Amino acid sequence: MALKTYTGSCHCGALQFEIDADLSKGTEKCNCTICTKMRLWSVRVSSNEFRLISGEEFLSDYTYGSGNAHHTFCRRCGVRPFEHINWPSDVVYYNISVACLDGVDINELMAAPVDYQDGLHDSWEQVPDEIRHL
Ligand SMILES: [Zn+2]
Repeated sequence: MALKTYTGSCHCGALQFEIDADLSKGTEKCNCTICTKMRLWSVRVSSNEFRLISGEEFLSDYTYGSGNAHHTFCRRCGVRPFEHINWPSDVVYYNISVACLDGVDINELMAAPVDYQDGLHDSWEQVPDEIRHL
């Protein structure tokens, strides 16, 4: 497959964005405390592959712990279409919720590998013992 431009949004439509991504290369699921509660299924893109089109005034930020991960959300509808990570320093990448993308080819998504991460134990390179609930 190839890099494709997707539009995406929160539920109420206040947040509108675009990304360039190749979903066939794979997506991510993580068992850390917040990903579990969000049931986040994401695709990672670099900062130059993400464009916020509208809704900056509706964007709220939530951080905890190290504060490197900005779990942003729409303050009107509460949906979290994307978050960005400032780690290891000023390098920013975005985790995009695949559920908030338009026009996703479900067959392509299901055929792509899923990278499961044991964020709960800070072992991001490890696959968790249990992944069925993620
Ligand atoms: Zn919204």
